[in-house]
Amino acid sequence: MTRKERMLVAVAGIIPDADGLGIVGEVLTKNSTHPLTWWSDYHHVLGHNIGFCLLVTAAGYAMSTSRWKTAALVFISFHLHLLGDVVGARGPDGYQWPIPYLMPFSHGWTWTWAGQWALNAWQNIVITATAMAITLYLAWKRGYSPLEMFSQKADKVFVETVRKRVPVQV
Ligand SMILES: [Zn+2]
Repeated sequence: MTRKERMLVAVAGIIPDADGLGIVGEVLTKNSTHPLTWWSDYHHVLGHNIGFCLLVTAAGYAMSTSRWKTAALVFISFHLHLLGDVVGARGPDGYQWPIPYLMPFSHGWTWTWAGQWALNAWQNIVITATAMAITLYLAWKRGYSPLEMFSQKADKVFVETVRKRVPVQV
C-alpha cells in the first residue's frame, strides 16, 4: 500500500470520534442561557454507525489507487473502532455510550456489552502497550511508522533511532 492508503486506513480508525467535537461548543456554553448539548446529543450517534462507515469506505475507495483493498481495510479499521468502543469505553459515570449501528437506516440493533470495561481500565493499557510494541517492531522491520502521516523526515529519524538500538540483520 502507498503512504496515502495507509493514512486513509489509519484515519478511518479514529474518524468516528469526529462526532465528539461538539464537546467544544458544549463546554464553552455550559453556563450560558442557551447551553448547547452537541456532545451529549451527537457523540456516538453521528459517526458511530454503518451509514457513516459506508461514506468513509467510499471515500477510501475513491482516494486510493488499490481501490477495493484500501476500501476493505478502511471498513475493517472503522469497525475496529466501534468494537473497541463497545468492549472498553465505559465513561467515568458508568454510561455505556451505546452504538446505534444501523443509523441512519434504522434505530434498531443498538450495541452494548454487559462486560464493558472503563476507558481507563488496565485492559486498555495492556492493549495500548501491546499495540505500541507491535508498531515499534513493524517500524524496525519495514522502515516506516505511523509518524509518516505527519512528517516523513521525523519518521526517517525515528526508524533510524529504532534500528540503531536493534540493528537489522541483512
Ligand atoms: Zn468512538
